[in-house]
Order: sequence, then C-alpha cells, then structure tokens
Amino acid sequence: MNLRSALHAALLTSAFAIPAQNSFGQATPETASIPQPHLAKARAEAFQDNNWKFPALITCYPNEGQPAEKVIKDPGPAKVADNFYFLGDGIVAAWAVDTSDGIILIDTLNNQAEVDKYIIGGLQKLGLDPAHIKTIIISHGHGDHYGGGKYLQDKYGAKIYMTAPDYDFMEKNAGRNPVWGPPPRRDQVATDGQTVTLGDTGIKLFITTGHTPASLSMLIPVKDKGQVRTLLYLGGITNKGLTPAMHTAYDEWTTRLLKVSATEKPAGVIGNHSSYDEAATKIEKIRAKPNDDNPFFTGTASALRYLRVLKECNLNNAEIERAQRKP
Ligand SMILES: [Zn+2]
Repeated sequence: MNLRSALHAALLTSAFAIPAQNSFGQATPETASIPQPHLAKARAEAFQDNNWKFPALITCYPNEGQPAEKVIKDPGPAKVADNFYFLGDGIVAAWAVDTSDGIILIDTLNNQAEVDKYIIGGLQKLGLDPAHIKTIIISHGHGDHYGGGKYLQDKYGAKIYMTAPDYDFMEKNAGRNPVWGPPPRRDQVATDGQTVTLGDTGIKLFITTGHTPASLSMLIPVKDKGQVRTLLYLGGITNKGLTPAMHTAYDEWTTRLLKVSATEKPAGVIGNHSSYDEAATKIEKIRAKPNDDNPFFTGTASALRYLRVLKECNLNNAEIERAQRKP
C-alpha cells in the first residue's frame, strides 16, 4: 500500500466508523443512491493534505463528528502561542488573545459555572488575570458560545461584540436549553469588515451567514516565537440542515474567505469546536513535543484547502437535502 492509498483507507475507515442516522440531512441508505460529486471533490481535496484525518471533511459526514467530540477529553487550559490561549472544555472552545492593553476573549461557553472553571480558572492557571478581560467577541447566537457572556459583562464590565441579527436570534431562542446562561445585554454591534482593536491587536471580522443568521469569522493576529502570524477563525462551520438560502449564503462566504485568505495568507484555521479544528489533539501534541513545529500553524495552503472542503461539503449537503425534500 503506498502512502496515498494508506491515507485513503485510514480516512474511509474513520469516516464510516460513524454510524449513519436516519434524520434529515444525514447519510441514509436513500442518500447513498444520490450522486454526490461534491463529496468526491471534498475527499479529493482532503487527501491532498498530509493530515489523514482532515477535520473539515467531518462536515460532509453524518453527525458532524459528534461521536468524535465525545471521545476528546478535556485538555485543560493551554498556551497555544506567545499571547494566545485555549480556554475551552475540549468540545466547545473559548480563545483569549493577551494584547498590550488587556485580554480579548472569543466566546464564553455555556454558563457561569463553565466560565468560573474554564475561563477564569483557566486564565489563572496560565498566570493571567481574568480581570483584564476587556473585550469579548461572541461568534454566534447559540448558548454554548454566549451563555457565560452576561456573567463576564457583570463581573468585569467587559465590552461585548455580536452581530445585530445574532443578538435578535439569541434573544428569540434564549431559554431553549436549560444549560445555557442568560443572554448578555446588547452592547457593541459587530459589523462586516470591522476591525475590533485592543492595545496592539486588531481582529478583523467577517459575517459568515449559514450556521446562524450572522455568525462571525475572524482574522486573528497572534505572536508565535516573537513573530506575528494570523489565524483564520471560523465561527459557524456546520452546514447540514440549512435552508436553501442559508446554503447559498454559506457558499458565498466560502468563496469570499478563499479570496481573502489568498491575500492575507493565514497560517492556520481554528474554530469554536474541537471536532472541527482538533484543538484538543493539537494541544496534546504541543505538550508532548514542545520543540516541534506548532501544530496550529498548518500553513496557508492547508487553510485554503480547509475552506475548499467546507465549500464542497456544504454544496453536497444542499444537494442531499434538496433530493430528500422531493416527494
Ligand atoms: Zn452553533
């Protein structure tokens, strides 16, 4: 078996180890008979990568990788680059950038208890003062991202940024899940193309509609071994069970971020769930081999590939769902 076919076999084994479920938008015996040219394109892209388990491909398969999420153990707080930190629980991520004038936090987990444990406790373990959280960007209006926001607003007076459509979406759906904390008060309205600046760091925002009405993606400059490198953060990655209009919007942002990334040359892709960026696994790698290349910086070619795979998976899911809607 040559390397390519070994990778191919490993990928197929992994992908099909996830049991098919019989709900809308997921692979079923019926969908197996629908031609899936975009799935083939997505796989071909993924196989070009030297990472056999190319994470974006999960969006093409049933369950969005949820079974994989369940086996990722809580990695604990971690320093990912000189001034960039992971504060999630292994399933949902919160990220912190320590700027020259305080901390920018991205997402706030489910609720106050998680903020205490993972964000406040995490920063303290890493030697940072949580009272320095000045700015919070919330990627989208689902409770696993905004649920700790009000607590942080009240405790530290942190400024919150969210898009107007997702403030509405959040308020409309508040209380649907008892685990989620109350929605934060409306504060700064994040807009497309805006740069949110704190101290020496400016994070550029892009509205990437699809997962929610106006999820936010970002270009985050971080320092790695003294050098500034940019990470592309994707704030709404899943693309199953969307309305046709949302699938179209998703396709448009993947096209746009491909163009942006060709110019901005991000050095890696991260997201807000570990099943999509493998943050928990990468953190374990950093801990095991701190002198190796940082696994979060996979390079611009890989970042572009990630977006192309998302694009094809979204098109594939749109086609499956269209076929399933036909009587
Ligand atoms: Zn979400």
